[in-house]
Amino acid sequence: MFPDFDYPARLDRLRSLMSDRGIDVALLSVGADLPYFTGYEAMPLERLTMLAVPRDAAALLVVPLLEAPRVVDRRGAFSVRAWGETEDPIGIVAEACGTAGAIAVANPTWAVFLLGLQAALPGASFSSATPLTRELRMRKEAEEIHWLRHAGAATDRVVARLGEVRFAGRPEREVAGDIAAMTVAEGHDLSTFTILASGPNSASPHHETGDRVLVEGDAIVLDFGGRAHGYHSDTTRTLHVGPPGERFADAFAVLEEAQAAGRAAVQPGIPAQEIDRATRAVIDAAGYGEYFIHRTGHGIGLEGHEHPYIVEGNDLPVETGMTFSIEPGIYIPGEFGMRIEDIVAVGADGVDELNRSNRKLRLVD
Ligand code: ZN
Ligand code: ZN
Repeated sequence: MFPDFDYPARLDRLRSLMSDRGIDVALLSVGADLPYFTGYEAMPLERLTMLAVPRDAAALLVVPLLEAPRVVDRRGAFSVRAWGETEDPIGIVAEACGTAGAIAVANPTWAVFLLGLQAALPGASFSSATPLTRELRMRKEAEEIHWLRHAGAATDRVVARLGEVRFAGRPEREVAGDIAAMTVAEGHDLSTFTILASGPNSASPHHETGDRVLVEGDAIVLDFGGRAHGYHSDTTRTLHVGPPGERFADAFAVLEEAQAAGRAAVQPGIPAQEIDRATRAVIDAAGYGEYFIHRTGHGIGLEGHEHPYIVEGNDLPVETGMTFSIEPGIYIPGEFGMRIEDIVAVGADGVDELNRSNRKLRLVD
């Protein structure tokens, strides 16, 4: 269940952006834009669910009849048009669009529905709604930060309980199952992912957790998260089965310094790419630059990955209320990998840390 936000106010802000940018109708379907503006999340079905938001008229939620009982509109933000199995939902949405010339479509929307709408509205031009919706969604309201902090604290409690888990002698998949269960037990509605990459697998940032059995001497990258009240968590800690060798310990000290530099760089007004540069500079200077093979971070909220992206080339100044990850890593193929990831918010005076669990290398057995 999503928290009870002021959805009509959010729709008004969307309409105001639509006016500024000459968009007549916004269409929201599966994905996070629809719940952001309504509190209702569409099932990702072959049947069409779509909210039509005309710039100058009431919003209409077109929803499969069998899904209609799930629709709760606590704020009177929209009216509902439930469609039966023999009706044409594309035609209903097209009618709601009327004579609109410029239509913005949320990402994601199934391509087959967009193709249908393009055929039904040959006079309209279609564009992505993301440039509109991200303007609102990446600037979190205080209550959204509250729920992100709540989810982050739940992952911190899982990290604090890692001493209860047996690692050596068990397959990655089995250990990851324990972590996922703890993710739910500590206060998420569901576990959304658990990456547990051991030994040489840890050099693959998005390793598919599998059957490899953990042994003494393994590095372990543990990256996991869940969803609570609609908001996501995402944290990574690096573990080691038994004490690490000198090469690993040296690289980990660099990584700790880089991740701390990323957090320290956070302040209102700094371009997103400067935060990426802050982590990368430390890793480059230590000679590990070629092994840091991904961006420093991603926004987080109703989606696990969303705007703003903390990457070279993104000169967007970050603002108070933006939330994103800081997750530099070092991955040496065939040997080991390591990553430290926290979610942070931009506070008025600098970084507001939504993850506070111990970031030190954790020795496990
Ligand atoms: Zn992660
Ligand atoms: Zn992440």
